[in-house]
Amino acid sequence: MRGSSNIKRLPALMLTMLVFCLLSACAGRNRTDGERNLNVFFEQVKQNEAMLVAFLHKMPKGADLHSHPSGAVYGEDFVDRTIEQGLYFDLRTKRFVPKPVRADPDRYYSPADLQLKFNKYGQVLDILAMRDMDKQPESGHDHFFMTWERYGKVDFPDAEQVVKVVHRARMQKIGYVELMLAPAWKDGKIDPQGSKTRFAEINGAVRRYLAARQADDIEVGYTLSLSRTATPPVTPDQRLDEAAYEAYFRPQVRGILELVRDNADLGLRGVTILAPEDAWVARVMFDTQMKIFNEEWRRLGDDPKARPRLNLHGGELTLEYSPYESMLTRISDTVRLGHASRIGHGVSIMWEDDVFGLLKSMKEQGIAVEICLTSNAGILNVVGGKRHPFRLYWEAGVPVVLCTDDEGISRSNLTMEYARAANWFNLSYADMKKLSFDSLEYSFLSGASLFAGGNYSRQRAQDDPALAGSAKARAQARLLREFEDFETTMQNTVKLFGATERNKFNMR
Ligand SMILES: [Zn+2]
Repeated sequence: MRGSSNIKRLPALMLTMLVFCLLSACAGRNRTDGERNLNVFFEQVKQNEAMLVAFLHKMPKGADLHSHPSGAVYGEDFVDRTIEQGLYFDLRTKRFVPKPVRADPDRYYSPADLQLKFNKYGQVLDILAMRDMDKQPESGHDHFFMTWERYGKVDFPDAEQVVKVVHRARMQKIGYVELMLAPAWKDGKIDPQGSKTRFAEINGAVRRYLAARQADDIEVGYTLSLSRTATPPVTPDQRLDEAAYEAYFRPQVRGILELVRDNADLGLRGVTILAPEDAWVARVMFDTQMKIFNEEWRRLGDDPKARPRLNLHGGELTLEYSPYESMLTRISDTVRLGHASRIGHGVSIMWEDDVFGLLKSMKEQGIAVEICLTSNAGILNVVGGKRHPFRLYWEAGVPVVLCTDDEGISRSNLTMEYARAANWFNLSYADMKKLSFDSLEYSFLSGASLFAGGNYSRQRAQDDPALAGSAKARAQARLLREFEDFETTMQNTVKLFGATERNKFNMR
């Protein structure tokens, strides 16, 4: 009896399997039972933020490819440091200062005030982060970009910041972080030797931290940043012209490209350009900046190994913060002339003159966009799935990677970026997994990808010579193992909550 009923059910079973296979093939991956269960469970999980965060906190998240350690610092860490240094907070200038001669308590908060008076402490933290923004007199945009000025000259060591970011990433199951650092400067120029000393110190601190914990669950790389708003000294009655700017900016681009090219052993992987894109210098000198990037890039020759990768901030603009004209070719020029392998933000894509041609070429060339949702919401007021251009990239097949930008100032982290993406764009568990794998695939980790043709179900043969010594393939193999473990472990969670009852986590 049992045998004959199984035979009768065979066509239906085969049909079901065929549908699964087709679905899997469409997604470019073979799904395991664990993954299928989680796909169903995740639709329930998405209905409640606490459950969503608990789930995503434990999910392996590939890489964070857009993180500024100076903005990843929590205000609390920073204030701890100022208390140790005996600094006062000046409410009028919103800066930490040495103890004033007349410490008027209405104007200056002492270290003891910050330690003992929660409201004064909170008020200072509000000034240093994107929290309680309704209490702030300025826009999110201005508040955010002024934070670094408010940090001022407080001695906060780079190495300590970076180790904290790495530790936080490990706790959230992030397997690789690519951190943006500034080179050292001397007499108005990039100082190669000073930069090397600085990066060796930072990298050394990271290695010591990992060795002390016998941790092999994370890789750390660095990209070096140039400011798109820095200028040569100009007196109040002078005006900055293009020739003076070019003479100032060209040696920086040349210096930084060579610094990255020659110091891969210190973990240097790429170059970026940053600072508010809507500032006067960034707007007026953009063409000059891209012209110089193009010329200096070509100067390094045709061998791709001799040229650093570039992940340039581009299109962190909206009509509120930019004239229409500036957005017409901002991202396409950053790709074409800036030779960017990844675009930071790309929020203004919809205003590109040849938007669909650009999306097609980003897809074909594998140029990823680094999407930073919390940052875009706080700085540009681009909030929610209907406003953000994520889906434009996603549906066109452009690689998308989720990133934090400045997690300390934004009071967010990569777990929350995934949570926000899942909710804003109604993404599935399989989508979460794709985002996680994409973040390693489009990282600047050295070596070939473990996967052939961008298909995460097709691994290259183990003896493929392309994989020899590949740091990227090693990180990807680890991510595969971590997902296997995660999906096995989460089956117990699925049982604990039960995934069949609809709207279980909908508390509204
Ligand atoms: Zn950034």
